[in-house]
Amino acid sequence: MGFFDKINEIRSKITEVESAIYGGKQEYLEIYERNLQLEKEIEQRTMELNLANKRILTLQHIWEMMNSSKPLLSVLDKIVNSIKGELGYMHSVIIRKEHDDNGEFMTIIAQSNNRIIDFLNEKLTPPLHMQRIEYDTEGRFAEALIHKKIVQSNDLRGAISYVIPGLSEENIDNVLSKMSSKSIIIIPIYTRQKPFGWLVVLSSRDTLTDSETDFLSMFAQQVEMAITIADLFDAVKEQAVTDGLTGLYNRRYFEEYLDKEVKRAQRQNQPFSIIGIDLDFLKKINDAYGHAYGDIAIKAVADILKHNARTVDTAARLGGEEFSVILPGVDSKGAMVAAERIRKAIEETPLDTIGHITASIGVGTFLEHSDNIEEIIELTDQAMYQSKRNGRNRVTIAKPASETSWQEVAVHAFIDVLSKHNIPVDKQLSDEICEKLRNSNNQTEPQREILYSIADMMTKIYNPLHAKGAIKSKVQVAVSLAKRFDLSKEEIDKLRVAILLYDIGNLVLPQEILQKAGPLTDDERQHIKEHPVIAAREILKPISYIQDILPIIEHHHENWDGTGYPNRISKDEIPLSSQIILIVDSYFALLEQRAYRSKLSPQEALAEIKKDAGKKWNSTLVNEFVTLIENDMN
Ligand code: GH3
Ligand code: MG
Repeated sequence: MGFFDKINEIRSKITEVESAIYGGKQEYLEIYERNLQLEKEIEQRTMELNLANKRILTLQHIWEMMNSSKPLLSVLDKIVNSIKGELGYMHSVIIRKEHDDNGEFMTIIAQSNNRIIDFLNEKLTPPLHMQRIEYDTEGRFAEALIHKKIVQSNDLRGAISYVIPGLSEENIDNVLSKMSSKSIIIIPIYTRQKPFGWLVVLSSRDTLTDSETDFLSMFAQQVEMAITIADLFDAVKEQAVTDGLTGLYNRRYFEEYLDKEVKRAQRQNQPFSIIGIDLDFLKKINDAYGHAYGDIAIKAVADILKHNARTVDTAARLGGEEFSVILPGVDSKGAMVAAERIRKAIEETPLDTIGHITASIGVGTFLEHSDNIEEIIELTDQAMYQSKRNGRNRVTIAKPASETSWQEVAVHAFIDVLSKHNIPVDKQLSDEICEKLRNSNNQTEPQREILYSIADMMTKIYNPLHAKGAIKSKVQVAVSLAKRFDLSKEEIDKLRVAILLYDIGNLVLPQEILQKAGPLTDDERQHIKEHPVIAAREILKPISYIQDILPIIEHHHENWDGTGYPNRISKDEIPLSSQIILIVDSYFALLEQRAYRSKLSPQEALAEIKKDAGKKWNSTLVNEFVTLIENDMN
């Protein structure tokens, strides 16, 4: 290497070193300037806060707080999310100090939205907010609380392993690498002079300046004020027994009172009645005149209830447009008279602008219709809905629990499904079906036959190859099979209703998939397969009195070996009635023609069913099923 080469090499080294130094300086300058900027920002914010001094407690917020069902939680949520992002704070949590028989401990009661926390929660059972964190009387949290001072620490690792002792080193590393925080700041929170807990923020800086401390102290004062107020609202809400809009008793009071009334009635062996009242067409009033007029209608009903109730009666607004009156010592006859008086008074009290309003009413009597209060409430509700179905503005008496047959349940379920109009059945057809169902009790033809033929008709809408009479046969086979397994009468009745409804979701299969010209993707095929079960659940979910039938419907495509859908449950996790539906449904499907195969004879169909013993269905079930069908054939 020549002399000049040497010189050039040295020169380029020097340039390299120079640029490294310059780059470092640049970086240092940037950090310095950024800190300077943050400093300025902190001063600016402190000033703003000083001036306005209402960051958290705006009037708007107090209003929201008063109306929220959980004032304290909504406030805490607001606090943690409002400080996150300020002054380079990456994350913020509120921890409460609690104690029980085992001593003092801490729980995280609010945390700002954060993907690292989501990551942690994946690793932790129970999730972070349910962890019981040890309270170390010598630790930093205690120090902050006892000395009422803000404590800062750069030992993030220590802090994390203290709060979550179960977290592995590897996961701590993972968390630390994911967050760019440099320090943890613990701010003690006192409410009404008592220690409440801590506001904890993770900061992107490793030092805590005086003005930042000022800012945090001031912020903490805001937090303390907000928590105190929210706590007061919580307490007041707890104590309230009346409803703000109407002055009637609220649901909480109603339920407490009902409890006492039940005990009294049982002790004295004397009935009492419940009148359930639901305003008709409130949505229309709201839509036509605005919410304020809806409120006026609600108040009008409340006033009528107050005027028509004897002093011993208790009238309550249970929520929205739903009211209830308890009539101590009154049997169903007396309650019907009182209910009719209320109905008439509502009808005959015209309101400004809105005009006449009406209500639908149900009446139930404890010790008459049932001696179980939950059942009375359910039956009264059903009676009220019966009033709606029969044309509203009327009173219906509850049916004793034992008299509600599966046919009636099915009739009402069909009417409810059709009149909600969220399945695409032609309006005229659905009106016709509803009419037929409503009259089904007074026809010469048995109600169940009408139900079968309607279910056949509805099945034909999505499956043109469906054979008339197939539903009736399915019910008969399923019921015989259920009896072989000693299912109770109640279970068998549920099964009957489930068979009428389990495929209702087929009616809402998405058109864009059904009408697709090209081949289906795997996703679409999966969708077509699972959608009906999911849709059935959605369609039937709002119908209160068939809730115990939904699990049967939901699981009627689960296979014995856990390969079915939607939940891939297996064996005895699958309700027996669902297993029965699956085998009966499959058998009858095999007897029908399909685009891709001709129809099978009963013998061929049974042979197919047997192939899946132990897989799709349990072998005992297959044996019973085969015996049943073969007996039938002979
Ligand atoms: P139906 O005769 O079938 O009872 O019809 P509806 O419109 O009264 O009943 P629905 O249950 O479909 O709707 C009730 C509506 O009442 C929906 C809701 O927006 C409204 N609502 C509930 N609570 C209040 C309230 O406090 N004030 C007002 N103005 N409207 C309310
Ligand atoms: Mg209503």
